[in-house]
Amino acid sequence: MKFTVAIDGPAAAGKGTISRAVAAEFNLAHLDTGLLYRAVGAGVLAGGEAVAVAQGLDPRDLENPDLRTQAVADAASQVAVNPDVRAALVQFQKDFARRDGGAVLDGRDIGTVICPGAEVKLYVTASAQTRAERRHKELTDKGFSTAFETVLAEVIDRDRRDSERATAPLRAARDAVTIDTSDLSIAAAVAAAIDAVRAKYPVT
Ligand code: C5P
Repeated sequence: MKFTVAIDGPAAAGKGTISRAVAAEFNLAHLDTGLLYRAVGAGVLAGGEAVAVAQGLDPRDLENPDLRTQAVADAASQVAVNPDVRAALVQFQKDFARRDGGAVLDGRDIGTVICPGAEVKLYVTASAQTRAERRHKELTDKGFSTAFETVLAEVIDRDRRDSERATAPLRAARDAVTIDTSDLSIAAAVAAAIDAVRAKYPVT
């Protein structure tokens, strides 16, 4: 069975949680495509050249826990504006999306560029204020003391860079179902996503 769920949206909107829940519910493979850009960003921070790092990426590079830092996220969104970096990562994502058994991919351009023919497209979003509050709480819980204003400024900055770039900018596909998680509990957001997938899921 080929069945692709494309999930796009800005940082900290809940894409990761929703993607993992959808993958578990329908027994689909899951690829967090942000990790590809993060791995390239980390390679650049380590002194590599972006396109060369992207071309030489190994799936095992995605397992590095250091990819989760804010510095790597920023480096990722900077390398992500480079069309040659994006081009180097396309085929891996397309192959993953059409693997047997079905797949969930989450990112910024899955429904628009990587998988325009995905059976289900979701656009998961939330206000910048809400997303910054979530990120701030996450950092505080981990013991980091970062001012809320700094986190909000980073969220807005990354949104701008991701939405305004010329190649594959962040936007909802025309046929995407939008889920705004600003006022939703995690359970409600996951339930909305699962309902949207179930409506299209092949009955076996
Ligand atoms: O989703 P995550 O925060 O891990 O993504 C890090 C950065 O990678 C994003 O800010 C974005 O610039 C880039 N990205 C992208 N296209 C994707 C996934 C991530 O440009 N499909």
